[in-house]
Amino acid sequence: MSEVSVPVLVVGGGGCGLAASIFLSDLGVGHLLVERRATTSALPRAHYLNQRTMEVFRQHGLAEDVYAVSAPLENIGEVVWRTSLAGDGPLDARDLHRMDSFGGGSTAAPYAEDSPGPSTNLPQHRLEPLLLRHATERAPGSLRFNHVMEGFTQDDSGVTALVTDRVTGESTTVRAQYLVAADGGRSVGTRLGVSMVGDGGAFNVISVHFSADLSAHWPGDKVLITNFVSPDGGRISRYGMVAMGPDWGLASQEWALHFHLPVGVTPETDDASVTATVRELLKLPDLDVTVHKVSQYIPEAVIADTFRVGRVFLAGDAAHRHPPATGLGLNSAVQDAHNLAWKLAAVVGGHAGEGLLDTYEPERRAVAERNVPWAMYAFRNHAVAHAGLGLFPGQPPEATKANFEALFSETPMGETRRVRAAEVFRTQRVEYQAHDIEIGIAYPEGAFVPDGTPPPPLDPMGAEHHPVTIPGHRLPHAWLDPGEQVSSHDLVGAHGGFALITGTSDGAWAVAAKQAADALGVPIAVAPVATGRWARVRGVDDGGAVLVRPDNHVAWRSGADGPDRLTDVLRRVLAHQSTGS
Ligand SMILES: Cc1cc2nc3c(=O)[nH]c(=O)nc-3n(C[C@H](O)[C@H](O)[C@H](O)COP(=O)(O)OP(=O)(O)OC[C@H]3O[C@@H](n4cnc5c(N)ncnc54)[C@H](O)[C@@H]3O)c2cc1C
Repeated sequence: MSEVSVPVLVVGGGGCGLAASIFLSDLGVGHLLVERRATTSALPRAHYLNQRTMEVFRQHGLAEDVYAVSAPLENIGEVVWRTSLAGDGPLDARDLHRMDSFGGGSTAAPYAEDSPGPSTNLPQHRLEPLLLRHATERAPGSLRFNHVMEGFTQDDSGVTALVTDRVTGESTTVRAQYLVAADGGRSVGTRLGVSMVGDGGAFNVISVHFSADLSAHWPGDKVLITNFVSPDGGRISRYGMVAMGPDWGLASQEWALHFHLPVGVTPETDDASVTATVRELLKLPDLDVTVHKVSQYIPEAVIADTFRVGRVFLAGDAAHRHPPATGLGLNSAVQDAHNLAWKLAAVVGGHAGEGLLDTYEPERRAVAERNVPWAMYAFRNHAVAHAGLGLFPGQPPEATKANFEALFSETPMGETRRVRAAEVFRTQRVEYQAHDIEIGIAYPEGAFVPDGTPPPPLDPMGAEHHPVTIPGHRLPHAWLDPGEQVSSHDLVGAHGGFALITGTSDGAWAVAAKQAADALGVPIAVAPVATGRWARVRGVDDGGAVLVRPDNHVAWRSGADGPDRLTDVLRRVLAHQSTGS
């Protein structure tokens, strides 16, 4: 049996594990990633990449490659509700509602103002190979697919794991200081007795990934998602479709069609049956369909009862699982890895105390506790929209049909029904315009020095975002140059440095930053910025400064009397024992 010793072992090569590998490499942390599958996932699964994830990808040099193949904003800016995709009956292919989405249309201005990274769409079966390529280029030989982590033990100084090559059967003992469980919750947490607490499991989502030319039928070039509510009252009356590329808009060649079945009802999944279902639902009986994959899963809204057991950290789906609404599963997984990676790097590199790692759970649990119930709420809100159409669960098919006839009738009551439906549909902005849910990430406690300022009020619908520099909050974005190339998010770089954004005069701050950097061995980039959007959102006066963590969260802010305290503050953020602050 061979033996390997690395600072960090990452178990799982999905979105979370691959992102962790990239971030660890950029931070100079040696690691080994093991993934039991032979290749990246063949399932499209998650597809929406929100602005916070794109900021993280921008920081680590991934964004350009993602944008080169993902859907541009002009192809994701609208979500539609319809009765069917095609068909020539009076109730067929009728629009029920249209909503601007994801930073397109009416949502464009706030999304563009608040982030340097436009949201985009790239299904997981295309994103994961891209991440794998970047991870492998940064750490050749450190990513082992077809390798399963069979078990592990831990002691005071590390973790010892048994990894087996599924092709040769050879086993390796891996000794690591820390283990990142990016395993989707399939192995590590269960071995440690971690419980997933929450809600879910009430229905099955069946996802069909297929290719077909729908350019003559898809309801618009800017439409990413179409939700169908069928007047036929058939066996599958509510379903949704997402454009999956590789070209976008009307040109999309691939699609994902999702429908629900009660748990325990198993659909026919052979190609002929699935093709027949797709043709029936789309009302395109002669459509040329190539089925790639059919998958089933039971959405859950669950959070692990702990994100850390000793030297093992749970991240991504291992720590929290979301229903797909609002697209928070993969996005949170990448963002967990981002939060954890710089802390591991600082501790492994000897620049921080072990206590820094204790801040991973309170920070990321706070996000999970906002996002997981939000995703379930947004998911269930579709039933509210259906009720707004006048539909009730268990309604006989003829009542459903009569309801739609009344809805579309050119009568005063038809008009009333349509106005009501539109008002209710607008509540689904909790899913498609969840701007603050996506970027309003604020840690109530963790690796920062609070200043006692209460957080701004939360928009109950999750849309309106208030950029602030309160410690613990995501750093507000501001362009720092007239050409809008350099963001406040670019100052920290990708290698574990801090940034200090000062006002007009940076003299005393620059001296203090050098002293702190020398004392603690972490780079601090000093940037004087006193104009533009930054001046409006910085929350300190000209003599003050904002200290930014390597993950672009605010570590501390101060007025002009702050330079003398900077070294102590940084010690505190990095959990060094001897701090006077
Ligand atoms: C059908 C489906 C549709 C979805 N749709 C959406 C969506 O629309 N939007 C959204 O945001 N989310 C969606 N999700 C959820 C999203 O895909 C997940 O949140 C995301 O994949 C989580 O990434 P992860 O890396 O944490 O976990 P995973 O992607 O599950 O990766 C975990 C990896 O760990 C590997 N592994 C496990 N145990 C071991 C071991 N012992 N040794 C080695 N390797 C191991 C597994 O093989 C797997 O590759 C969907 C999920 C499913 C199943």
